Amino acid sequence: MSRRIVIVGGGPAGVGAALAARQQDAAAAILLINDEPGEPYEKPPLSKAVLTGKAMPQDAPIAGPKGIAGANVTLKTARIAQIDRAGKVAITADAERIPYDALVLATGARNRILPMFPAGQTGIYYVRTADEALALKAHLGIAKSLLLIGGGLVGLEVAASAAELGIKVTVVEIAPRILARVCDEETAALIHRRHRDFGVDIRTGTVCTGLQALPGGKLAVVTKAGETLTADIIVVGAGAMPNEALARDAGLAVQDGILVDDHGRTSDPAIFAAGDCTRFARPNGAARLENWRHAQEHGAAVGRNTAGGDVAYNPAPSFWSEQYDLYIQGIGWPIAQSTARVRRKVGDKATVLFELDGASIAYAVGINAQRDIATTRRLIERQIAVDVTDLADPTKPLNALLKPKS
Ligand SMILES: Cc1cc2nc3c(=O)[nH]c(=O)nc-3n(C[C@H](O)[C@H](O)[C@H](O)COP(=O)(O)OP(=O)(O)OC[C@H]3O[C@@H](n4cnc5c(N)ncnc54)[C@H](O)[C@@H]3O)c2cc1C
Repeated sequence: MSRRIVIVGGGPAGVGAALAARQQDAAAAILLINDEPGEPYEKPPLSKAVLTGKAMPQDAPIAGPKGIAGANVTLKTARIAQIDRAGKVAITADAERIPYDALVLATGARNRILPMFPAGQTGIYYVRTADEALALKAHLGIAKSLLLIGGGLVGLEVAASAAELGIKVTVVEIAPRILARVCDEETAALIHRRHRDFGVDIRTGTVCTGLQALPGGKLAVVTKAGETLTADIIVVGAGAMPNEALARDAGLAVQDGILVDDHGRTSDPAIFAAGDCTRFARPNGAARLENWRHAQEHGAAVGRNTAGGDVAYNPAPSFWSEQYDLYIQGIGWPIAQSTARVRRKVGDKATVLFELDGASIAYAVGINAQRDIATTRRLIERQIAVDVTDLADPTKPLNALLKPKS
């Protein structure tokens, strides 16, 4: 009988797992179960092209134009509510029992809901699904002002999209500066300036202490500094939390993410997990990531392993973000204490900041420097020793550093 692989979740991790499992085992019966209807779509456009009206969510199917069916994977719309581990059965919310030989949990993450800003209240938005993005887009069409709570990457993309539509945007960020967890001060300052160029008012080091619905539909927020900020729309970008309840209820090991080994196995050898919902083992301790490339690559490695493969996952993680004409990228693992920080000014609004651990690069963040970041990925993956003067000199091509010095 052919191997039954059941995958829960239709994001890049789940789809990546399905496609890789198919490549590994042409005869396997692969079932992808997602609680959102229709062909699985990419989330990154939701805060960018979808809000500005340049694209619709269905324009970016994760599996490409032929869809999931093109890879001979069956797609089912259902919510898995329970796992019977002893019987190796996934159970839907409608009590349908779906047997598996290998199960992949790729349930992603959900928005962190701030109690002061309840999801679903008129004028308050969180952006994670196509429905949420389309609802916000519809309101942006008639709004004049938007208040963004939280200055993280996705939130700032929403701010940039709204500002490009001519909407007056104010950002309230609790930290002393934006993107404190993502990049250095100078890079963040460049991004901050670009927002200011588009009229976005970023208030850092402040929190909201109260919310009031005003007559006429506007919302008013009071800040700790005693200011009252009013807007037609409030968007909350307060981070995400892993969807781990299914795993926890099934008795699997969970610790702010479903715990998996370097092959994506949970504490039950027949159950795997991949993507944003996991905390995965790596040489320097378990880690959790929330970005597209990680989800896709983790899913692909895990998908192969469900079908008899032997792929250890040890990524050089990376993310990207698009705000106005800034293409922001990060690559590698940020470290608490870098041995050196080197800036490479590639051009006007184009820069890379490298953080070194000893002689090699641990982490880099770049703006409008795609080629240098692609080379940096290889420098990090191969742990090549670099010369800081070469790194800082934009006239020296980075790929020359890939060749060993004679
Ligand atoms: C608006 C937005 C913009 C982003 N932009 C970028 C970007 O520019 N660059 C970048 O690197 N990353 C970006 N990301 C992050 C990236 O999209 C995520 O890291 C990635 O989607 C995670 O993939 P995943 O497969 O682990 O989970 P998800 O994509 O969250 O998919 C999980 C799926 O599983 C479903 N599901 C959950 N539980 C169940 C269940 N019990 N039964 C059935 N189905 C279930 C969910 O509904 C969801 O469809 C963005 C994210 C968002 C929300």
